Amino acid sequence: MKDVTITRSFGRSSVTIRIMPDGSVRVAAPSLYPRFFIDRLLKEKADWIREKQQGVRLRMQKTKSLHEDGYLYLGKTYPLELGKNQKELIELRDKLYLGSSSKRYVKTYLTSWYKQQARKVIVERVHHYARISGSRFNAIKLTSAETRWGSCSSQRNLNFNWKLIMAPIEVIDYVVAHELAHLKEMNHSRDFWEAVRKMFPLYREYRTWLKRHGDTLRV
Ligand SMILES: [Zn+2]
Repeated sequence: MKDVTITRSFGRSSVTIRIMPDGSVRVAAPSLYPRFFIDRLLKEKADWIREKQQGVRLRMQKTKSLHEDGYLYLGKTYPLELGKNQKELIELRDKLYLGSSSKRYVKTYLTSWYKQQARKVIVERVHHYARISGSRFNAIKLTSAETRWGSCSSQRNLNFNWKLIMAPIEVIDYVVAHELAHLKEMNHSRDFWEAVRKMFPLYREYRTWLKRHGDTLRV
């Protein structure tokens, strides 16, 4: 097997195998664990490893083709142009301009820019809908959850996934209304959906959008 890195440590009591985003394999083992056993384990797990690697590769290809035309921002795709001489590192006009010509950090730069924009937009939308519905909340936090778009805690804290900033504003409004409605109803009962509808009557359409297209909201 190619591309296997083994790290050993005293604190460890078992062996774990991880497939990294680039498809390489990382084995973490107890410090005195014999190499022979590691090799045997890798052999036993070969099918599982291959499957995981294929999954990782597929996801990488999908992400690549996802950004062929550019990057999503509030439901619109903007081509990315690198190496622009400008004041801010990232500026959004007719295109998404990046003040660096290095491809290597595009993802990092964009992620932090998306988070900044998400905070501004989502906080504004939360205040808007909280005013309409007369809801009182405690704090707003951004999260990076893989599958969750929003959540609401019993301490009245609202959490939103920053990746929502890539979706149309109506999708953000739906998620905001959804979480604010949870301040009144901590379930998905009829009364809950009625509370969502009162804030955002078109919610069904954008709930469906999120279910269908949620996995395209990636950097
Ligand atoms: Zn819910």
